[in-house]
Amino acid sequence: MIQTANQPENHSAYRDIVGRVEKRTLQQNRQQNDVCLVVVSKTHAIDKISPVIEAGARNFGENRVQEAQKKWPILKRQYDAIKLHLIGPLQSNKAREAVQLFDVIHTIDREKIAVAISNEMKRQNKVLQLFVQVNTGEEAQKAGVSPRDAEKFVARCRDVHGLEISGLMCIPPFDAPPDSHFKLLAHLAEKCGCKNLSMGMSGDFEVAIDFGATHVRVGSAVFGVRT
Ligand SMILES: *Cc1c(COP(=O)(O)O)cnc(C)c1O
Repeated sequence: MIQTANQPENHSAYRDIVGRVEKRTLQQNRQQNDVCLVVVSKTHAIDKISPVIEAGARNFGENRVQEAQKKWPILKRQYDAIKLHLIGPLQSNKAREAVQLFDVIHTIDREKIAVAISNEMKRQNKVLQLFVQVNTGEEAQKAGVSPRDAEKFVARCRDVHGLEISGLMCIPPFDAPPDSHFKLLAHLAEKCGCKNLSMGMSGDFEVAIDFGATHVRVGSAVFGVRT
């Protein structure tokens, strides 16, 4: 099939998700551009990603710095106004590369990372949009600060490390309804004075919008199931 650039019928799966995000946002009496659709392109090669960019997407999420480095410098040269979101755990020894390549980091979750990101942003004279990840389900295997530490950690990021924290992010437990987690994250964000909420994936982004999500991270609903 030949794809033509910038035709609305291009990439119907992507167009479908855009439509569903807009519809749900308006149903909640929110402004249409209130919710940023972050298309999660992890594991997918450039030739799968380009058609989604051609169809209009500009915000993309990757969970590994190294994988992103192989794809996005090329794509960023090719297309204007791409915003790249780091949605996976970050090691402090990757902070330099992360700050160079990414525009938004959703996964600040410990002091060491806050320090490393703060230092790199100063060194590179670049300001990224930052989210603190909260482990709302308090799962041992999952990254994120505990809900009871969130307020204090956000305050330390701001006051001690000079980081502007724009929002909170969560990945609810895989096997439970997400509602209470989205609600908890919204509550914590209000307490912290954060206006952005990164929550909701392919299976639950509409519910997340109901609970106030400003950033939904959608992969498989756009690209199909990852292999
Ligand atoms: C992979 C991933 C997503 C996207 O998940 P889908 O179910 O494919 O939409 C969202 N957020 C994070 C943090 C991820 O790692």
